[in-house]
Amino acid sequence: VTTYWCELAWLGSTVVDAGVEIEIEAGIIAAIRTGVTTPADQARRLAGVTLPGFANAHSHAFHRVLRGRTHEAGRGSFWTWRDQMYDIAARLTPDNYHRLARAAYGEMAMAGITAVGEFHYVHHQAGGTPYDDENAMAEALLAAADAAGIRLTLLDTCYLHGGLRGGGPVALDGVQRRFGDGTVERWAERAGELGNGERVRIGAAVHSVRAVSPAAIDLIADWAEGRGAPLHAHVSEQPAENDACLAAHGRTPVEVFESALGPLFTAVHATHLTASDRTRLGATASTCCLCPTTERDLADGVARAADLRAEGARLALGSDSHAMIDMFEEARAVELNERLVSGERGRHTPAELAAMATEAGHAALGWPDSGRITIGATADLTTVGLDSVRLSGTAPEHVLAAAIFAATAADVTHVVVGGDVIVADGQHLTLDVAGELRASIDEVLDV
Ligand SMILES: [Zn+2]
Repeated sequence: VTTYWCELAWLGSTVVDAGVEIEIEAGIIAAIRTGVTTPADQARRLAGVTLPGFANAHSHAFHRVLRGRTHEAGRGSFWTWRDQMYDIAARLTPDNYHRLARAAYGEMAMAGITAVGEFHYVHHQAGGTPYDDENAMAEALLAAADAAGIRLTLLDTCYLHGGLRGGGPVALDGVQRRFGDGTVERWAERAGELGNGERVRIGAAVHSVRAVSPAAIDLIADWAEGRGAPLHAHVSEQPAENDACLAAHGRTPVEVFESALGPLFTAVHATHLTASDRTRLGATASTCCLCPTTERDLADGVARAADLRAEGARLALGSDSHAMIDMFEEARAVELNERLVSGERGRHTPAELAAMATEAGHAALGWPDSGRITIGATADLTTVGLDSVRLSGTAPEHVLAAAIFAATAADVTHVVVGGDVIVADGQHLTLDVAGELRASIDEVLDV
């Protein structure tokens, strides 16, 4: 039994400031005591406010290489950015991807992220030939998350076509060939070789309606449902995707995903939806994973998050392209973007924004018992220091709002996963994350 003492802790409905003891047994929260004014063990004292660990529900680890490297090419769009992203995808090997992902997941750990959903589609060698171990790339990612100490939901992504043009699918081209398994059956067979672990969940993903046909989507939905596994898909990120989908299938992307919708389904982005798309996602209790720092970086647009929630959809958050990795920024951007568009404040409360970064994200990644500080939940904790110039002077009753609206990833001091400390005093305990980022990014760019 390990017991942590929190100066303040967010216990779901409120921040408790009277001293909170969290007792952990076998990685699970076994007891919570409030009003404990002094810690029994100074070494397990968490100064500041302790929140449930964050879930980063949408990640492409290799995009971390692109940070800062896509802004100087003059005007462009999502599609010109995609060319730069493809150049990096072409350079990956199981070894260099392992080191890059380990560093990126280390950065996530230091940002308070205790579970990540990796939307993984770089499966095969350049040209499309499988590696001898055809899940070598997936295993590189699993080992990377293990080394960084965080939970990983590997969303094994089916990617069969290069796009929709002239009303139908076109063949994979160039680097896309390493994304494809050829057929949905071969995707299912390969993905089926991967299994859950103590800190691992295997889920499914459909890259998008651009990459997978409606019939194959139905098969993937069956595959995921049969396993009780999460199923994620990029949905309506760009107007051009909607136009191509309507031209090819006479339906919106959400309509094409009809058989997949439900509590295990997550629509990533959900930016350009019709009112009836929003109703469908809400009525089926699907999740929408918003990635506002990426969506603004790529000039995608602003999702109508408050409308989605009003319809019944759950909202989760992802750092996606890792233009930055900061769940406070993702959370506040959902609200602040809508303020700019609507001329109205307070469309999401601080607690609702915090829930997106914690409980809802975990549920979308197949961790229904994570993302909240309650008895029986996994002991995943993120502590935010309150001594920085950003947060100093905050009154206890405003701590959650101050953290959501003014904290940065650099304010995360301690991170616990399954009862184990992985970050202490702002430092990762086993990885030199900055050094590993530098070395692994250089290694990929050298290919
Ligand atoms: Zn994505």
